[in-house]
Amino acid sequence: MQQQSTYKQLTLITPDAAMSAAVHGERAKCLQRLIRLDMPVPMTVALSFDAVRDIAVGNLPDMAALMAPFGPQPLLSVRPSSLDPDWGGPSAILNIGMNDARHAMMAAQIGDSAATALYLRFVQSYAVHVARLDPDEFDLPDVADAASLRAMLDAYEAETDETFPQEAAVQMVEVLRSMARAWDGTTARLLRQAKGAPPDAGLGLVVQAMALGVGPGESGSGVIQYVNSATGQPQIIGRYLGQSQGRDALGDADGAIYLTCDKRGPSLEDLCPQAFAQLVAYGAMCRRKLREEMQIEFTIENGGLRILDAVRVQRASRASVRIAVALAEDGIIPREDAVMRVEPAALSELLHRQVDPRAKRDLIVRGIAASPGAATGRIVLTANEAQASAARGEACVLVRRETTPEDIRGMHAAQAVLTMRGGVTSHAAVIGRGLGVPCVVGASDLVIDRKRGLVVAPDGRTFAAGDVITIDGTTGQVLVGEPPMLEAALDGAFKTLLEWADEFRDIGVRANADTPADAQTARNFAAEGIGLCRTEHMFFEGDRLGVMREMIFAESSDDRRAVLDRLLPMQREDFQALFEIMAGKTVCVRLFDPPLHEFLPSDRAGLRDLAEQLALPLSEVTERVEALSEYNPMLGMRGVRLGIAIPEIYDMQARAIFEAMVAVRKKGVDISVEIMIPLVSAMREVELVKARVDAVATAVRTKTKAKFDYRLGVMVETPRAALRAQDIAEHAAFLSFGTNDLTQMTYGLSRDDAGRFMSAYVQQGVYAEDPFHTLDIEGVGELLAIGAERGRLGRPDVVLSICGEHGGSRAAIEFCRAHGFDYVSCSPFRVPGARLTAAQSALRDRMKSD
Ligand code: PEP
Ligand code: MG
Repeated sequence: MQQQSTYKQLTLITPDAAMSAAVHGERAKCLQRLIRLDMPVPMTVALSFDAVRDIAVGNLPDMAALMAPFGPQPLLSVRPSSLDPDWGGPSAILNIGMNDARHAMMAAQIGDSAATALYLRFVQSYAVHVARLDPDEFDLPDVADAASLRAMLDAYEAETDETFPQEAAVQMVEVLRSMARAWDGTTARLLRQAKGAPPDAGLGLVVQAMALGVGPGESGSGVIQYVNSATGQPQIIGRYLGQSQGRDALGDADGAIYLTCDKRGPSLEDLCPQAFAQLVAYGAMCRRKLREEMQIEFTIENGGLRILDAVRVQRASRASVRIAVALAEDGIIPREDAVMRVEPAALSELLHRQVDPRAKRDLIVRGIAASPGAATGRIVLTANEAQASAARGEACVLVRRETTPEDIRGMHAAQAVLTMRGGVTSHAAVIGRGLGVPCVVGASDLVIDRKRGLVVAPDGRTFAAGDVITIDGTTGQVLVGEPPMLEAALDGAFKTLLEWADEFRDIGVRANADTPADAQTARNFAAEGIGLCRTEHMFFEGDRLGVMREMIFAESSDDRRAVLDRLLPMQREDFQALFEIMAGKTVCVRLFDPPLHEFLPSDRAGLRDLAEQLALPLSEVTERVEALSEYNPMLGMRGVRLGIAIPEIYDMQARAIFEAMVAVRKKGVDISVEIMIPLVSAMREVELVKARVDAVATAVRTKTKAKFDYRLGVMVETPRAALRAQDIAEHAAFLSFGTNDLTQMTYGLSRDDAGRFMSAYVQQGVYAEDPFHTLDIEGVGELLAIGAERGRLGRPDVVLSICGEHGGSRAAIEFCRAHGFDYVSCSPFRVPGARLTAAQSALRDRMKSD
């Protein structure tokens, strides 16, 4: 209502007309800015969102007032103007007002053929876009003459039983009505909502006097921009086409010429140097005054330049970073603005190779986008084949029903991973993100025919092992062959933007990193430390799996300790490598977590190999493996329960951690160490483990005569641990919320199986989002808030963080800031996005309070 009183439904755009992008749309507001900059913009009237809403329900604005500024025989265009140009809108309609009389008049001015061509084009676009007639009946003829015009007008009459409307105002009413209704259509609504438009997003319209672009002297139209849309580097890009209108010069128009002097052919700079120089000056002016890189649509009318429109340059992620940083470095926008202008999700695109957005995609199947980036390789169906393929130097894509820890080495060796089962926190997804390997999971429409070594697509096409496919882990698509790619770009602009983000950020960002490679990535992306080192991955490497299996099969505690003594130096080396890379920072090591049976083979061949290795009868090995299997392993003998039942494992790990710390310190590496206990549900578990870890620390201090400290903390990932956080925190220096398991247990929803029905749940609105993907603030969030509050009661200075996969997301970061958490920890490749998101969240808060 406020808008109605301040703004009129129809506004002639002048430098001081009352206008706002929120009322008239970005295009209309931008035109006013161009007019204020004294650019030669033809007369324009803006229709507000309210006016267009009224038109859609049949209430027309004052048409006489709308048409009056354009004189008795107007020739007009109408263009859409929504708040965000990316939301799309109906196509522009040009040459409204064209009729028999105007045609005759123009034929005298610009020649018969040019005038007829204009009339033909108008009848065509009116018939197709306004009257919604069959486009096949209104193809533009090759020759623009009286006969073809008559035929087109007759076709219109035949289809509608009416003669082609001759009154400009009548034509205008129909154009406005069709554009207003098109905006309300279901497809348009869904498309713009997918781009972030709110359900009630409005459409404004701009009605503008045509600048002809056809006729005597140098006449034509073109489009110019001043940066490269892919890279953001300064570059004049565009085309100009003589005797044309609108955006005719783009696409593959015959005769379109370059803008700047070019060896390959004629250019606007040669043809019309003055207009070209003016365009260059306008570009610089737009950048300075509109504080943005703009694309300008222009017309040359008998040698004179007209500026019809300017829109924000469409840009790839890489370009958006470069443009924002350059604007701030040139003093045009403050650094805060530059930080706010880049979408954090866009950063993750820059860290990985991507399928070129312009490439043609031959889709095999769509799954869940689980680890961003794209990679191409030959299909392999087992981890062994992946390793063999890597050994041959051949790129491969590991395709599995789902992955298990036994597949890790295959995943390492593969360029990308595809699974039929699993969701965003399944094994394949977590490991994929950790390794930076593009991954699509839950492609349940795909069938693996193991016997024939085939993968069958939903459309029946089959792909054999060895066939080349591409995994696009950013979109969740699996594609045939090798589409063109864009390389990752960690350029100076990217680093600069993140340094600025760090200036505004008020929450820490650490990385979840298990291997030296992960740690190096985390360090390269300026993570402040490691918030979660999952140690179990270390046991799957090379020769360790065998030793691990011996440990599991050990008859007595002494036998077990003897085997663990062989694992100790290997673990120590792992930690030493990690600590050296993370010199000067904190590393939080989580003690062993997964169920033991994950280390055991599941098929007959594997069982036979194991029997051979242990020199035991196959029947005994099979029996022991069966005895270890659980109905519900994720809720079974894992995490701290193993630490209580088989304490030697944690003893060995604690020793390896302390000895590694002492060893690297001797080399001058400063490192701060934290030890974290997984899957705690009771305070007594913490007491018991703490007592043993303290004892190991004392033993190592005595043996090495070194002094060191460490902090012991708890991973809060069962609902009970959150509820009992007060007494747990009395024994824990920090609480780190494992939101993967906490979500699983809060919902009673298996994180490995939820992918099967999650899309049905989300589509029907049972859950707003996949809670493994987007932190469930209402439910899991309440447990986090309770845990944080009670934890502080038990220990006022307890350090609080999140280390589940949600850690890098906007929802989690905003939640953690609001609840005073100290840091978030996420996969290394999500660290840059988390730094930017945290800065934007802090800046948004600052703006609210200003
Ligand atoms: C968690 O449960 O949130 C977590 C980080 O641990 P993991 O994913 O290893 O179970
Ligand atoms: Mg967990």
